[in-house]
Amino acid sequence: MKYIFVTGGVVSSLGKGLTAAALGAILEQRGLKVRLQKFDPYLNVDPGTMSPFQHGEVYVLNDGAETDLDLGHYERFTSGELNRLNNLTSGKVYETVLAKERRGDYLGATVQVIPHVTNVIKERIYAGGGEDVDVLITELGGTIGDIEGLPFLEAMRQFALEVGRDDVLFLHCTLLPYLKAAGELKTKPSQQSVAKLREIGIQADILVCRTEEPMTDEMRQKLSLFCNVPVKAVIEEIDVETSIYELPLALKAENIDDLVIDHLNLDAPDSDMQIWHDVVRRLKAPSHKVEIGVVGKYIELQDAYKSVYESIIHAGIANDATVHIVRLDAELIKDDPQNHLGTLDGILIPGGFGDRGTEGKIAAAKFARENGIPYFGLCLGMQIAVIEYARNVTKLEDANSTEFDPNTAHPVIDIMEDQKDLTTKGGNMRLGACPCELAEDSFSYHAYGKKSIQERHRHRYEFNNTYRDQLVKSGLRIGGVNPERDLVEIIEIPDHPWYVGVQFHPEFKSKPNAAHPLFANFIAAALKYKK
Ligand code: GLN
Repeated sequence: MKYIFVTGGVVSSLGKGLTAAALGAILEQRGLKVRLQKFDPYLNVDPGTMSPFQHGEVYVLNDGAETDLDLGHYERFTSGELNRLNNLTSGKVYETVLAKERRGDYLGATVQVIPHVTNVIKERIYAGGGEDVDVLITELGGTIGDIEGLPFLEAMRQFALEVGRDDVLFLHCTLLPYLKAAGELKTKPSQQSVAKLREIGIQADILVCRTEEPMTDEMRQKLSLFCNVPVKAVIEEIDVETSIYELPLALKAENIDDLVIDHLNLDAPDSDMQIWHDVVRRLKAPSHKVEIGVVGKYIELQDAYKSVYESIIHAGIANDATVHIVRLDAELIKDDPQNHLGTLDGILIPGGFGDRGTEGKIAAAKFARENGIPYFGLCLGMQIAVIEYARNVTKLEDANSTEFDPNTAHPVIDIMEDQKDLTTKGGNMRLGACPCELAEDSFSYHAYGKKSIQERHRHRYEFNNTYRDQLVKSGLRIGGVNPERDLVEIIEIPDHPWYVGVQFHPEFKSKPNAAHPLFANFIAAALKYKK
């Protein structure tokens, strides 16, 4: 197996994760089996407990791991399925080391960052790949110079020494700031961050330079000289025009894949990158346009609903349409839904926790139901739809989720009996892939084209089966059920153009070249509604 380490310099938010993912995509096109993983230097054991304000979306894997949102990029750009070993934080590393220390595994030794902490990190580099993987790409979060990142860099240096320099490639992403007054791009911060890496004993092999302006040859020479990197390994990554999905083609144009393949002595036939050309062509010349409202709580944050926004874009690609996403703050629409939602072609309510904005979301679900506007509810968005239907159609006054009102007369969404015990102990989320059997003749069955599916979950509360008959009698359709625990996973409104709420998170399984069937059908319904 070969190893690529991706580090970042100068500033955060460089798009390192996207660069790593795009490199993975190119290498995959050249027939290599690629796996990506992320190391995060913060002390949280995983991002599951972090607020979207801090950290953007929590991305959930099939095995239920709650991970960094960069893993979402990895899964969208490549076909490899990731698991909980592919995201490691300092918190997790220390948890492992301290557990070993308490067990006496260190046999009386003084436990230290080197070698004990670095050993745990190295073990995870060895474990991250798996048998069928040719290239493991490991991205290190944070910026070179951060104190917290040092043990990871030290582990990477040791690792390269162990497996040999020919099997390891260090790729450093950096920024060339453009100084308006001087009218030029500056290379000094990049020189300094590469020097900082050298201080630890790591020599960058490829330098990927984020820039707003094209680089001159002179500048490439200069970076090469000062950073000790061959000129051809100084790669320009200019801001993409319309979409992140242009990045694989942009990096391929700089021959990044040849550099990697040469350095790592891999044997891989060249590729014409056809699937990425197709994606970009469809993105850039769509025939139709729709407007989708996303009603949420973290609407002002770029990354809080990352996978949802990406899935909508994929569904646009699949339908040959540009989707204009209108982000709506749930708290603002409550009193005048017509004003905020009246011109939309579809309404989507994403997942969420806590009761802020729920009444606004309920108003949005009602507006969609009553006006025949395609509606797609994800996790919380499904629960909202159930509450709305129970209140306004089944006439269960004040129906609610016990998450928002523990004393509601009609807890149509509740924690299930068999989970209640776990709740008090904290380990109570339903996480990761669960099976679901679809009802024939449902919107969902029509979308998937098959009866048995698997989707990823991350929630505590469930549709309360005590109310199932009553809700069904008043017209709600159960579109899908978990066969193991008889939990309602999908609700639909049959006499509506397209109204679907799912207890799971389909947004974690959509790709630019393979839109998720429910998202694709939702956007198709929105296009139809518009006409
Ligand atoms: N808050 C709800 C629950 O815990 C929904 C969670 C979500 O949307 N991810 O069940």
